[in-house]
Amino acid sequence: MLTVEQALETILSRVPRMGTERVDVLGALGRVLAEPVVSRREIPPWPNSSMDGYAVRAEDTRRGVALAVVGRVEAGGLPARGVGRGEAIRIFTGAPLPPGADAVVPQEEVEASGDHIALRAPAERAAYVRQRGEDVRAGARVLEPGTLLTAAEIGLLATLGHGQVPVHRRPRVAILSTGNELADLGTEPGPGQIPNTNTYTLMAQVLEAGGDPINLGVARDRLDAIEDRVRAARDADVLVSSAGVSVGELDLVREALTRAGAELHLWQVSMRPGKPITFGSLASRPVWGLPGNPVSAMVTFELFVRPALLKMGGRRRHTRPRVRARALEAVPNPGSRRGYLRVQLEATVDGLGARLTGEQGSAILRSMVAADGLAVVPPDTVVPIGAELEIIQLRDLP
Ligand code: AMP
Ligand code: MG
Repeated sequence: MLTVEQALETILSRVPRMGTERVDVLGALGRVLAEPVVSRREIPPWPNSSMDGYAVRAEDTRRGVALAVVGRVEAGGLPARGVGRGEAIRIFTGAPLPPGADAVVPQEEVEASGDHIALRAPAERAAYVRQRGEDVRAGARVLEPGTLLTAAEIGLLATLGHGQVPVHRRPRVAILSTGNELADLGTEPGPGQIPNTNTYTLMAQVLEAGGDPINLGVARDRLDAIEDRVRAARDADVLVSSAGVSVGELDLVREALTRAGAELHLWQVSMRPGKPITFGSLASRPVWGLPGNPVSAMVTFELFVRPALLKMGGRRRHTRPRVRARALEAVPNPGSRRGYLRVQLEATVDGLGARLTGEQGSAILRSMVAADGLAVVPPDTVVPIGAELEIIQLRDLP
């Protein structure tokens, strides 16, 4: 059976990169930059004061010396004249430094009387002056393609005059649930029915991974029904179905995918939860058949679909951070498959600690609700209290 790493390698080698579009700068928040950004401006554009005070020539300043205040310059204005020997110009934060001046003395550090100031201490050259280009030089490459744009990058783009930004298109991801037993949201489950969970967890996971979900609803466990829905996903860039991918006689997803024209590249990965999973290509678009149990569907999405969506969306890094934490209780993983066990993290006096989120069955969605991470545990192992666990971190640390 394939390892998780082998399966992921197969998947990542076969997913295409999305094309690009231009969006308004604020709309670029959370999107992925598609082209390098080279600055066409010096930031700041001219030397300016970082304090309210007096622009001076550093060489004129000594303790007790008096300077004549010969002018005034505010932010948004221009100096009417320069600073000559023995002179100072009143200046405000953000105002351009007058010619001749090379330092600013903050107003708290002078005695002002009439049109003179007396200094309490000498000023150093360049003190309280923000130099031209000290933040960004014209011609400098300031952002790389593949960067996830956060508030700071949005500010930088605006500073450099970009009202529009080239970003990767979000992959449109069709989500299909399969199963005769499923009652969708809005219908009360009848006898023998259970509520459809996976459509909603998977669409939410798609959004969190930067994709655009499309709800294909629920298909009954019939080849033609599933095949029809698969064909209906023609507008999507990706198809993710859940359930019906195991070995039972009602597990028809693989055959339905093949009938709809998909080529399947893998089936079954050595992991728990989540062994039955298939991945293939349908007219060069990636398709997944994930297992049906709600935790299995979420964990296999996390390990196989999310990295692929990030890669398609232009991101350079596709993996979550991994952290180490001490087991605060024994963590058993019986059986021959690697475990991905749901844990809660807590700060302890000896660093990070982890404990299981309770019952770990693949149908116990609450084990996922409380999870800060997935502990990766080798087969046939009981990790004893105090031993180190490797954890895929799913959320910000508490
Ligand atoms: P299957 O792989 O089709 O045998 O499904 C495995 C288990 O997952 C069964 O108990 C199904 O009832 C359950 N299941 C399948 N799809 C969903 C879904 N969309 N929401 C909640 N449970 C599901
Ligand atoms: Mg089923």
